[in-house]
Amino acid sequence: MMLKLPLSHSECLYSAITRHWQMMGAPNTYRYRELLGLPRRHRVHPFLTTHITKLAQTFGAEPNELLYKSTLFPVFRAVTPDGEKLERAMLGDGQPSPVILSRLPHVGRGSPFIIKCCPECVREEREQKGFAIWHLHHQIPGVTTCDKHPTLLNVNVLGDGGADRDFMTVPLLKAMQVKAASRRDIALAQSATYFLNECCTHIKTNCELSNCLHQQLSEYGFITASGYVRQGDLKKAIAKVFSLQPASEFNESQSVFYKACIIARKHYEYCTHPLAYATLLYTVASLEHPRSDQFSEVFTPKADVFPMVDLLSDARNGLSINQLCKKYARSKCFVTRQLDLNGIEHDTNSMATDSKVKDKILSLARRGISREKIVEETGTGLGIVDKLICNTPGLVERRKALRHKSKLAECAEKIAQVCEANPTLTRTQIRKLVESEYATLYKVDKKLLFALLPPAKRPSPIGRKKTIH
Ligand SMILES: [Zn+2]
Repeated sequence: MMLKLPLSHSECLYSAITRHWQMMGAPNTYRYRELLGLPRRHRVHPFLTTHITKLAQTFGAEPNELLYKSTLFPVFRAVTPDGEKLERAMLGDGQPSPVILSRLPHVGRGSPFIIKCCPECVREEREQKGFAIWHLHHQIPGVTTCDKHPTLLNVNVLGDGGADRDFMTVPLLKAMQVKAASRRDIALAQSATYFLNECCTHIKTNCELSNCLHQQLSEYGFITASGYVRQGDLKKAIAKVFSLQPASEFNESQSVFYKACIIARKHYEYCTHPLAYATLLYTVASLEHPRSDQFSEVFTPKADVFPMVDLLSDARNGLSINQLCKKYARSKCFVTRQLDLNGIEHDTNSMATDSKVKDKILSLARRGISREKIVEETGTGLGIVDKLICNTPGLVERRKALRHKSKLAECAEKIAQVCEANPTLTRTQIRKLVESEYATLYKVDKKLLFALLPPAKRPSPIGRKKTIH
């Protein structure tokens, strides 16, 4: 016996099977599944339907036609690298599970077995045709709104236990809620429908999808010549298309807009939410002209005219190389080269320091004298002092040890002064007066600290009142 499947345009396979079951007089679902050639306890998935070859045989249809036009296979084939496995599983007996292959628990929220419908679409269909269907494009994970009506979709969970093996027909209108959707949600729904169409018509594999994406992104100037994504401009464009308040939504790590920016990067190979791809493709498709003026203005680097004449005249007026570097924000190398080229004398190369001066600098440095003081005493530059200290083995460590020692001595002296000035204070009170010095000595040299402090007082026993004489 050949059965006839009442499949409508943009209807999902689950919906057609459900209507067929209803037309047969809603028989016992176990017996009905046997009639279709499905396992007795099989659960028909709303958009990742399996056993498609078997169903096609039963209904005299073309398996690939059902797979490509009445399930979300085209979308998941494009967003996961496991497209071929998914195809085999859906045409065959559902092993391995398409729900797992498509990462549905990851991309969908809550149960992977939900089915959605738009109350406005249902009303229109019932008025025009007498029956309503579950639309395929409403089932794309993450879509919350009808793409034609500004209405939130009603979500139906396909139950637990035995209930999920029933066939759910489109509910009555009075059982549905009509709620207005935001502009952002409507745009997202439109992007999802657009993406589904693209996947059905020309994007076949994950590789093709990312190639297509990169080609379009670079056509619109979102990718630099060296292959980097202009994240800032991409964000702005997405925010414009989806009428977002930029910044706020992009910071959520779960946001599809945020993910869209990540997958725009080259060689991104991980499985991502279909809506992230939909967002990107739709954004690019919504831009009017490739490389429009608005972008070229942002992307053209401004011609950099360097005030060379000013630099040279400043140099002639006696500004030092360091001052020139600072003033014109250029490197020493750049400045000296320009002076050399223009025949302006400078003292960079006459800096070969006399060995006597060097010895003096080193001897001062060994005594732990600060760099600034050495500069003052020897009349040299800070650069040469720095260089000598760093290039002499062991000197940096020696100076560090000396600094440490002198710091400890300073701390000890300060504490001793405070103790002397306030002979009546207890240890705790002194600690509060010179907290940082106390802490330093406590950490490094406890013995010295306790020798400086007044003798410790024994704590008075708790609960006994002090008697004042
Ligand atoms: Zn609708």
